[in-house]
Amino acid sequence: MKSGPGANEAWLARSRSAVWHPCTQMQHHAWPDQPGFLPLIPIARGKGPWLYDFEGRRYLDGISSWWTNLFGHAHPRINAALRAQLETLEHVMLAGFTHQPVVELSERLSALTGGALGHAFYASDGASATEIALKMSFHYWQNCGRADKREFLCLAGSYHGETVGALAVTDVALFKDAYAPLVRAANVVPSPDFRQGAPGESPADVARRAAAALEAQLEARGDRIAALIVEPLVQGAAGMAMYDPEYLRLARGLCNRHAVHLICDEIAVGCGRTGTFFAHEQAGIRPDLLCLSKGISGGYLPLSVVLSTDTLYGAFLDDSVARGFLHSHSYTGNPLACRAALATLDLFAEDDVLAANRGRAERLSACFAPLADHERIRHLRQRGLILAFDVETSDPWFSRRFYRAALDRSALVRPIGNTVYVMPPYVVGEEEIAHLAGAVADALKAALAGTS
Ligand SMILES: *Cc1c(COP(=O)(O)O)cnc(C)c1O
Repeated sequence: MKSGPGANEAWLARSRSAVWHPCTQMQHHAWPDQPGFLPLIPIARGKGPWLYDFEGRRYLDGISSWWTNLFGHAHPRINAALRAQLETLEHVMLAGFTHQPVVELSERLSALTGGALGHAFYASDGASATEIALKMSFHYWQNCGRADKREFLCLAGSYHGETVGALAVTDVALFKDAYAPLVRAANVVPSPDFRQGAPGESPADVARRAAAALEAQLEARGDRIAALIVEPLVQGAAGMAMYDPEYLRLARGLCNRHAVHLICDEIAVGCGRTGTFFAHEQAGIRPDLLCLSKGISGGYLPLSVVLSTDTLYGAFLDDSVARGFLHSHSYTGNPLACRAALATLDLFAEDDVLAANRGRAERLSACFAPLADHERIRHLRQRGLILAFDVETSDPWFSRRFYRAALDRSALVRPIGNTVYVMPPYVVGEEEIAHLAGAVADALKAALAGTS
């Protein structure tokens, strides 16, 4: 591998000419003097919470590589588990075959839901998990003689992935508008985002107000609704919009009353991110369908899973093939990905990660607390190991300036619009959290001054 002086630029030039990068206006990678310039960063290796380029520079992975990485890069125990799996079985088709990692993972995930969700269906990415959950719900109602239940509800600002089917329940204009004619859009109900509170309203009040709107929608057309899909507690792509668990409690009750499935998309907020293993636990409820991806494999390999209740699963059992759930992906239940997930669950079980993360969350609060008084900062907020705030600025390039400034200070922190957030892996120590907070404060100063 090429490394040393000049190596970064060599990799960048080859990447720009051959790779079409995701979520990117590629022209913004081209010329450093354009205001929208977005640097492309070549990464040679990773270790713990740090990423290293080809010339020895390093970046603290403050957003867990797009919310996927839980225990840092190149974790010795996940690496060892994968090496052992590699020598045993790399892949076998899951239709008609089964294997140890997929059986063990399914059993353990079910146990983590207290047995409420007894069956696990696998795919490789979050958007596919969303589509699987939507198809399962729709098909369930068909199998039960309720073919009229064929619409979906999602929250304002929701993000559930970007394939054409998942865009139906994704309410982010930038990702959706260009493809609107292709998409069969769902019904959007108000978000319980607590930033929308009127003076004197608590987050629980905002949650009750949003639930009342959901109730009105269900009373009007509940007989046509198959499912409500939500991101529990934190709507990530909406800009880390946080809300009170009361909304989930009320939504669960309303869904029960109107025979509507509740789909919890915990692709971003699952696996300990919000303080409990599953975010929905904080509301004392269980969904009918639960989507997991991103962190479930520790951030190692593409893996997603949809967990379903046994009631829902049971409605697909029949002599007729067509009443079964025939969805499939070639790599469904890949043994390496499942083994990475098992190693990840082992770390939770053996290291009391949730307790240690409470300490990390407190440290994060303390290090970022001084920003609460900043005159341009609004809604400094936190749920577990997600901390976010909104910046008041009319500079359309604020997020780019901030991103570049943070990189210059050895931190990977990529704002969503004017929302700056950090979401570090569960291996950051006290000094690394302080480094992150310092880099964010300095980058904020630079970006607000119109520089980086
Ligand atoms: C990232 C994400 C998805 C989509 O997952 P992909 O693997 O990127 O397709 C869906 N839902 C939520 C809540 C997400 O954060």
